[in-house]
Amino acid sequence: MLPAFLEKLITEKALNLAAYKAEHITAPVSLHANENPYPPSPELLEELRESLVTLELNRYPDPDGQKLKASLSEKLGTTPDHLVLGNGSDELIQLLIQVFCDPGDRVAFPDPTFSMYSIIARGLGVEPYPLVLSDQWDFKAPENFDSWKQEKVKIVFFSYPNNPTGNCFSAEEIQKVLNNFEGIIVLDEAYYDFARKTFLDKLKQHPNLILLRSLSKIGLAGLRVGYGIADPCIIRHINKMRLPYNLNSISQFMTERLLARFSTVEDQVDILLQERERMSTQMVKIKGIQPYPSDSNFILFKATEGTALHQRLLSSGVLIRNLVGHPRLKDCLRVTVGTPEQNDKFLSLLASE
Ligand SMILES: *Cc1c(COP(=O)(O)O)cnc(C)c1O
Repeated sequence: MLPAFLEKLITEKALNLAAYKAEHITAPVSLHANENPYPPSPELLEELRESLVTLELNRYPDPDGQKLKASLSEKLGTTPDHLVLGNGSDELIQLLIQVFCDPGDRVAFPDPTFSMYSIIARGLGVEPYPLVLSDQWDFKAPENFDSWKQEKVKIVFFSYPNNPTGNCFSAEEIQKVLNNFEGIIVLDEAYYDFARKTFLDKLKQHPNLILLRSLSKIGLAGLRVGYGIADPCIIRHINKMRLPYNLNSISQFMTERLLARFSTVEDQVDILLQERERMSTQMVKIKGIQPYPSDSNFILFKATEGTALHQRLLSSGVLIRNLVGHPRLKDCLRVTVGTPEQNDKFLSLLASE
């Protein structure tokens, strides 16, 4: 217990916040966090070993990440001034809310979705404005945006594909928002490499569009690297709010090298996509299991008794994500696509009731 005077110093918004449930249980088979199950290649690790000398870790990192931005912009067909680097895309979500919202404003997002939009917003005194999804987890744009305006919605976040439901929302409905909403539209493309669908080509026409990407789902979750793509004018304002050395030297270096050897990642993604189809096909055949379609590296599914199944898997060494806390996700679990061996273990446990 804190002394009373100290307790009083904690702001209302901090007191009311529930922490993000980042489970750090270690299980022999971890299929709960949508990470890439494949470790960095031996070649990449060798480059890391060598870099530990050349990176001069006694010096600050490049505050602008110039080398990394150069290789990212080449890959994306854009220019470095369209990019901002983040300590994970989570940090960029926070920066965007800081740049575009005052306390009392709102951020909209389809619900259920990635919980960090709401958690970060509330931590900054900004209120969530949830948008109800259909039974197929699709988003429908409102007829007009009057109520968004009245409710002071400044940003709408679309996780595309959506975590945890797995699907990409209808592009036509998102386009309606782009055409009519006079606020910031964030397309969080953390799972882009699995969906291979993007709004990148809409950036020119819509300067209020911001894309977020992440390296976490494709192999470097431990290095915390995300980036944003937006109009250079928006990037300039984000940079004023960003801490100068937010991305460390090792993360900058390793991401640049991973991009230089990106065919390895593409091969891994190909395997994971095949595995996702194999898992879905097997899962529908299991009694009491109902998988939803997925455009990402995970599958949302409904079970007869979600929490009991989650526990049973865990006691056999397989950790997946339990989502039953959300009113729309009763008995729903989310499994990340792992290596074929990990998926076999998951599938055989699922079938053995
Ligand atoms: C995992 C995830 C992120 C977080 O990415 P980091 O780069 O690890 O911070 C962002 N958005 C969505 C939808 C995610 O699922």
